[in-house]
Amino acid sequence: MIKPEARGRIYWTNVSTNTKVWVGGIDKSSAYSTLLSEKQGAPNTIVQLILQNALGSNPRIATDQIGAAAAKNGRLDMDALPSVLTRLQRQGAALGHFNVADLVLLKAVVPAAVEVRVPVIVGASEGERDFLGTYELAALVKVMRAEHDVSIFLNADHTHSLAKAVEAAKAGFDAVVIDFSALPFDQNVSRTKETVEAIKAINPAILAEGEIGDIGTGSEIHETAHNEFRNLTTPEEARQFVASTAIDILAPAVGNMHGMLESMVEGKTKKHLNIERIAQIKNAVGVFLTLHGGSGTDDEDFLRAIAAGINIIHINTELRVAWRRSLEGSMASQPNEVVPYKLLPAVVDSVKRVVTSRLKLFDAQLTSNEMDLSTAR
Ligand SMILES: [Zn+2]
Repeated sequence: MIKPEARGRIYWTNVSTNTKVWVGGIDKSSAYSTLLSEKQGAPNTIVQLILQNALGSNPRIATDQIGAAAAKNGRLDMDALPSVLTRLQRQGAALGHFNVADLVLLKAVVPAAVEVRVPVIVGASEGERDFLGTYELAALVKVMRAEHDVSIFLNADHTHSLAKAVEAAKAGFDAVVIDFSALPFDQNVSRTKETVEAIKAINPAILAEGEIGDIGTGSEIHETAHNEFRNLTTPEEARQFVASTAIDILAPAVGNMHGMLESMVEGKTKKHLNIERIAQIKNAVGVFLTLHGGSGTDDEDFLRAIAAGINIIHINTELRVAWRRSLEGSMASQPNEVVPYKLLPAVVDSVKRVVTSRLKLFDAQLTSNEMDLSTAR
């Protein structure tokens, strides 16, 4: 269902002709003029429904019909992920990637993006997919996409086998992080290449991300510090890796690490990134770059990293910390409550606040506007 108040750009894509038809919005004149300029290639049923939407007296029914027809006849879609990444790069912004392991997290991530009015990537690692269900998550995201007028993408985070990557591609994920980074370079190349070919055979539009270097494992609270300068990705190995695997996105090790130290959770210390190395790698490969392990990173470093070529930023541990603490708080303040929908909204709100602040930061333009406002006060 497309909400009648939805503004913005929701498209039905005719896959065979690659034609986009605008179906969102209810403003009669703009819907009609957009229809006239973009209707070529659209099946008649869709065009008729758009006409009803443009001219009809009950736009709510018309938009619902369009949503149903588009979902049935074709792919109801937002802008494709590569074009969103390219646009954000041009604007000096990055796409926020947030991991989910349950419905509470998903209900925090998507509404945060809707409120900030920016696109978002929902991510789930193998462990998170095993818990939530790969196909179940894909179905939930599909429903949320149709409900909201921001682009919502779905990524299979840290996938360590061909079978799990194939499963995610079949379930309709937009991207897969193929992670054989623990293997020696040559084996990482051959396993990644084989997986890229397999998932592209299922869905040519899927984006494949590969990873080299050491950014640690586990988005959790660690007791000991990861050596920031251990095994950083070099521009030359990045170039070789991208050229021999045909990946679309590279995840380099540039001072980032998965998880947070207790001191970072308390806000006493921050992670710092090697900005110069990011710029060198970007120069060498020219593909999209992802920053994994973004939780606990210095805000200024994020902005400099985006300017140096980072396109996607992963935040997981900060969400998990907010989830756990607010769950404990909710339980403690309502010791006799057993109704999940009374205990969990506080958890959703708490996680959503973290996601919102990160999305505003990564959408650099919005942040600088806000900064202007706050200094003007
Ligand atoms: Zn990661």
